[in-house]
Parts: sequence; C-alpha cells; structure tokens
Amino acid sequence: MSTCLDSRPKLDVALFFHENPDTMDTPESIATWTGYHVAELESTLDELVEAGVLRRTGNILRITDDPELRRGLEQVSRYYHTARGAVEELVARLHEDHQRMAEQLERLEVSLDVIVHTMADGLIVTNADRCVVLVNPGAERLLGLGEADRVGRPALEVFAGTPVEPLIGRLDEVGPGSQLQTELRVIVDDEPRYVRANVRPVGTDEGKIQGHVVLLSDITDLRRLDDLKSELISFVSHELKAPLTAVKGYAGSLLSTSLNLGKETQEEFLREIDGEVDRLSRLIDSFLDISKLDAGRPIEIMPVSFALEDLIRQAVQIQLAVSNRCIPKVEVPEDLGHVTADRDKVLQVLTNLLSNAVKYSPAGRDVVVSAERVPGAVRVQVADQGLGMSPEQIENLFVPYYRIRDAKRKAIRGTGLGLYLSKHLVEAHGGEIGCESEEGIGSKFWFTIPDPSPQEAVH
Ligand code: ADP
Repeated sequence: MSTCLDSRPKLDVALFFHENPDTMDTPESIATWTGYHVAELESTLDELVEAGVLRRTGNILRITDDPELRRGLEQVSRYYHTARGAVEELVARLHEDHQRMAEQLERLEVSLDVIVHTMADGLIVTNADRCVVLVNPGAERLLGLGEADRVGRPALEVFAGTPVEPLIGRLDEVGPGSQLQTELRVIVDDEPRYVRANVRPVGTDEGKIQGHVVLLSDITDLRRLDDLKSELISFVSHELKAPLTAVKGYAGSLLSTSLNLGKETQEEFLREIDGEVDRLSRLIDSFLDISKLDAGRPIEIMPVSFALEDLIRQAVQIQLAVSNRCIPKVEVPEDLGHVTADRDKVLQVLTNLLSNAVKYSPAGRDVVVSAERVPGAVRVQVADQGLGMSPEQIENLFVPYYRIRDAKRKAIRGTGLGLYLSKHLVEAHGGEIGCESEEGIGSKFWFTIPDPSPQEAVH
C-alpha cells in the first residue's frame, strides 16, 4: 500500500477518500477539497486508479471497494495521524523553546544595558569605520561631557577637543592582540581628576578588527594617595631634620676646643640637645602610634597622676621652642589639681592642638590654652584667632590625611594626621574631642579626660 502512496499529493488524495468514503467526485471538486490544482492532480489520480486505490466511472472518482486496500488505507491513516501529532507536538515544543530563548535574550540585553549604564567606569565603543557605537554615562561623567546624541557619528569628530581626542586618533595602532594604556588629566567641575584609559580592539575569530573599546577608570584617589605618600615622606624628613641639625650644631660646638665655652654655656647647650632629642622622640612616638592605628591595633595608655597645669606649661614651652609667632597664654583655675592619665599622650594631644593654633594663625594673634573641671572630667581648650573653618571642613577634621587645601594654607606644611591621632589618643582615655570654628574668626579645639577624683591635689 505504502509504495502506491509515495508522494504527498497521492497520500493526501487517498486519505481524503478514506476519510470521506461516500464521496463520488470529479477531479475539479477533488482539487477544491484537497487544495491542489487540477493540473497537479491529473497524473496523481491516474496512478491511484492504476494502483486500485480509486475507481473511475467516466469523470467520477470514488474509493475502492476492495476490503484489503481499505484496511491498508485505514492503517496508513492511523500512521499518518500519529506521525502528524508527534510532529505538531515537536513544533509546539520548538516554538516554546524559541519563545523562552527570546525572553532570556531580552532579559540579558536589559541587564547588560543596566550594567553599562550604571557602571562607574566609562565605556566608549567604536566600530570598524571609527564611528561611535556607545558612550555610557560613566564616560560622560569622567570626561566632563554633557549628554548628547553621538551614536553613528565619526569618533574623531565627536571627541574633538576632549581629553580622549589624542587616544581616539591612535585607534589604528591598536591591532589584534594589542592594547593601549595611558593616563589622562581631566578637569571636571574645576577639579583635576586622573583617568586611566585602556584601549582594546574588538575582533572576530579570523583576527579582523570590528572596532575598539575604550575603558576609562577614575584613579584620582590612587593618585592622591601617591601624592600624600610623597608629601608625608617630605614632611617627616623635614621634621626629623630640624632637631637633628640643632643637635649636630650644639654637639659640634661642645666638642670644638677652639670655642672655649664656659661651663654655663656648655650646660645650656646640653639642655638644648636634651630638648631636641625629646622632640625627636615625641615625633617618632606619634608615627609609631599612627602605624599602630593603621594596623588596627589599639593605643595603650599608662596612667599616672600629674599636675595638669604643669603639663600645659610644658606644652607651651615646647611650642615656643618651635615657633614664637604667637605667644600662647595659659588660663587655668588655681585649684585645677592633678589628673590621672597617660602624661606623654596628653602632652602629645596638647602640643598638636597648640602647634595647629599657631600654624593656622597670623603672627601675633592670641592663642589661649585654658582648662577647667567639669563633672567627672577635666576639659582642656585651645582657642585661636586664626583662619577658622567652614562647617563642612570641620566635619572631616579627624579623618586621616585630611588637610584643607585652600590658598591661605598653601604654604603651611602638614600631614593631616595630627587631629586624627589626637582623637584616638583622647578616646583611648575614654574622653572626647571637638571643635567649634568660624571662617576668618578663629577656632576652639577642646578635649576631655575622664577624671573621677576632682579637686584632689596629690603631690
Ligand atoms: P596638619 O596640620 O598636619 O595638616 P591636622 O590633622 O593637625 O593636620 O589638621 C587637619 C587640617 O585641619 C589642617 O590641614 C588644617 O587645615 C585644619 N586645622 C587644624 N587646626 C586648625 C586651626 N586651629 N585653625 C584652622 N585650621 C586648622
């Protein structure tokens, strides 16, 4: 049976008659029912008649009476419908898969789009004709460009006059397997920023270049850290050099027999040497404390009882030995008495605050150190009539390496570590540190040291 149904039209016509066994039809109406042209059906019908599947009476065709052939047709019809069901199922499943993949692709495109649009790094993509394919908001922000329609335009024209122009002009140099890396200095909102630019080709498997990707990363913070490191090294060397030069000078004079120094002068020089060595030692202690803080280790304190006024006067003497631009005044009540704390650490805090008050004040202005007892603590304050600070600047004062960089402070050296260290030294005692300041008027820095035994003058 199957051999006489070896073409699609023969199968369709045979199954049509099988499913409509009472039909007696002309070729024209068979063509209408089955969807074929009459011309297409001519040989088909002849062959089906020859094979005995159809009978012809004049122009009329009908299905065979032969029970064997009809059973055969029944079987073919069953196979056909089963196969058709399976194919339809397969098609439906393929359709579902296709739809799912299309949705996944769309989701992927959406998330890629979100990543490209929200990433902090800048991304510029060009095609083989050096035309812009993409500029993400990160790139606009890093290069200080406004939003604009750039896609499809020549990259050299789009980026003319921008910091990436020289880089775009060198895209030809970046071939398969190579890359170009450079640093750009960009001014954004009047602030210099540093951007690392990396250019890579986008290629096909055959090594043909289809375009380029320029990735821009903000490295301003890294550069600032580098600058801070150099500043710190230069500051520390300078600070170490001053006492060492003094010690060397005094020691040289003491050793020189030709100077013939009297006993009194010799003693004075030795005292100076002693003072300078103390200064060096305090400086080194500060840096050791900072490295402890950096390593996340706590600062240890060794409390002793001492007279607070003596300590304040010592701090003033230390400051006067460094600079006499302002002569600090001391205002303390007579009954201030003793406190129990780490004497060296409190001295360190006080010398930091005093040195800042003098450093950031015009020469000759008043600097006043005062102290008082408050419930459960002593409160020490250093007030000056210097440059002062804005509320935003005060907010960052105790952050490590924070320095205010304005025109008035340009020539004043420092590390931005003094107040950071002071805060930790005070907090190691369980105390507090703070500042009130007004730009152009002056500042008041204060700190407290808990001391539960007020008024006790233990000598
Ligand atoms: P440094 O003085 O080494 O820069 P500090 O941590 O001691 O670092 O101070 C941080 C910043 O706070 C300084 O750079 C300075 O601009 C500001 N500052 C500190 N004390 C005063 C003050 N008394 N008056 C004005 N500005 C001050």
